[in-house]
Amino acid sequence: MTIARNLQHVRAKMADALAASPWKQQCTLVAVSKTKPVSDVEEAYNQGQRHFGENYIQELVDKAPQCSADIQWHFIGHLQSNKVKTLITGVPNLYMVESVDSVKLANKLNTAWGQKGAEKPLPVLVQVNTSGEVQKSGVAPEECVQLAQHIRESCANLLFSGLMTIGRFDDDTADCFEKLVSCRKTMSESLGIEEKSMELSMGMSDDYELAIANGSTHVRVGSTIFGARNYAN
Ligand SMILES: *Cc1c(COP(=O)(O)O)cnc(C)c1O
Repeated sequence: MTIARNLQHVRAKMADALAASPWKQQCTLVAVSKTKPVSDVEEAYNQGQRHFGENYIQELVDKAPQCSADIQWHFIGHLQSNKVKTLITGVPNLYMVESVDSVKLANKLNTAWGQKGAEKPLPVLVQVNTSGEVQKSGVAPEECVQLAQHIRESCANLLFSGLMTIGRFDDDTADCFEKLVSCRKTMSESLGIEEKSMELSMGMSDDYELAIANGSTHVRVGSTIFGARNYAN
């Protein structure tokens, strides 16, 4: 019952952080189940968890059909254009792609989602590299307006829904979150979209409370719910 207890703990912490947040936002908990077995996903599912996040295409394509069909899967990992088709056709209940970071990728997703013949457009977030670290994916903050505009104007099968970032794992985490908030503000001014209608996906196990204090509407929490990951498996 550890997963149940961990989930309860995270939900309580989220509720406290939301009550104290000046943003008066709502926040979705995305349980990041990468490297964890189907049984762990189902244990969280049995506690009412419906939003789950995965980073690796093959793992998600293997896992999703074995898990409850009403799970809402978020793809949060680095996505190569040549894997888009596998993701779209292999995950029947794909809910959102949080890691769109190029025009090329947006176009591929748009085409693949169109070919799938889904009723609704696929919600996507633009991933922003707010830390400037070279190993991190995402567009530079000054490029996010351009990519969002492309998605809105040229990708009819995608629904631009907001921004995602991974914070720095040090004292500057809050700066990353503030930068994402400021990207959203610029986006709102440049494209005439209401700020509050754009999601902010930021915050992980070590910093989700801080992210909520900074306005996060999606926290992606893995190890605090499922325990430490063993990448050797
Ligand atoms: C793995 C991962 C998470 C979850 O990380 P934890 O520190 O285990 O909570 C969140 N977001 C992304 C993009 C990830 O790759």
